[in-house]
Amino acid sequence: MLRRVLAETGDALVSVFFPGGCRLCERLLTRASRLPICEECLGAFPALPLRVCPICGSPALAATTLEPRSSESESPPGSERRTCLDCAERTYRFDCARSYAAYRGTLARAVVLLKFERIDPLAAYFGERLASLAQRTDLAADIIVPVPLHRVRERERGFNQAELIAKEVAKRLRLPFKPVLLMRTKARPDKHILTNDERWRIVRGAFATRPGSQVDNKRVLLVDDVMTTGATLDACAGALLEAGAKSVIGLTVARAVRRETPTGIGE
Ligand SMILES: [Zn+2]
Ligand SMILES: [Zn+2]
Repeated sequence: MLRRVLAETGDALVSVFFPGGCRLCERLLTRASRLPICEECLGAFPALPLRVCPICGSPALAATTLEPRSSESESPPGSERRTCLDCAERTYRFDCARSYAAYRGTLARAVVLLKFERIDPLAAYFGERLASLAQRTDLAADIIVPVPLHRVRERERGFNQAELIAKEVAKRLRLPFKPVLLMRTKARPDKHILTNDERWRIVRGAFATRPGSQVDNKRVLLVDDVMTTGATLDACAGALLEAGAKSVIGLTVARAVRRETPTGIGE
């Protein structure tokens, strides 16, 4: 009887006894940090390998291809870069995109947690990871811009998680933070699961720069929480380039990766 009661109230008991437990696994947090995620969960974030597609950042280089070139003979030797198959077929309006880790496991849960709950220390943790990734990979930029939420969505939620992360990136890279430069003019539909085609369709013309925004000749580092197909980053890049930006680089915490793709840490 007692055992059953304990089993039923287990979760409640854990939260009573360990009010500051890890938000992903409820393990007791032993270190003095405001980040409510334990070392084990942080250590299980599925890192991406060093070698990724030079354009979209995908680790899916198992079936590689050479970046399309105008002519084999005109290219200087060694100039070819291996891209993923998607990038061999399509062009994005951003120069390149990079992500901290694969969107699955504890990282996916942490990203979702930040989407629905404003946990500033978690945004700071992600911001630090992205800033060091930008430095390590020489991503040059003049300003930091978060991917905006539609104003109705932002009002519902109370904050924009991409903005929280981008602000931390800007602070660490000592670059101007421009959260109101871009705006989302068309909201994402409520439907949770979207096909890839739907993702590209719904973001078409969904972003615009605010009138009077100073983006002329600026290299923009565009920050978001997750990159799925690249459609959102591409649409934002389009609006920024139209407004006169020199270039756009996408930087996201997580990246959707197909299951069969090898990543840094095995599952
Ligand atoms: Zn944990
Ligand atoms: Zn690619």
